[in-house]
Amino acid sequence: MAKHLTKKQKDAIKHQLAYVVGFGVSCFWKTRCSSSDIFTLDELTLDHLIPKSKDGSNNLENLRLACVHCNQSRGNSLFPPPQKYRSSSLNDSTK
Ligand SMILES: [Zn+2]
Repeated sequence: MAKHLTKKQKDAIKHQLAYVVGFGVSCFWKTRCSSSDIFTLDELTLDHLIPKSKDGSNNLENLRLACVHCNQSRGNSLFPPPQKYRSSSLNDSTK
């Protein structure tokens, strides 16, 4: 069982992931999530690609920055979050 990361550890990881991503900080699942918003690191959570409950590690390669919506909607699933959060952009033709 992987142990929980401290806030300090999480912040350090977030900074590393943000650096790797390189362009602002957006939700890793943004193609799935309604939001193309740029978040602050505090607004993003660490999402385990392989959930901790499935022996996912706290290594960088298993962690991505995800918005709270995506992280929560994904839960312990191995898969990306459902696309329901796209619905908020209905009738939005800006692209
Ligand atoms: Zn998201």
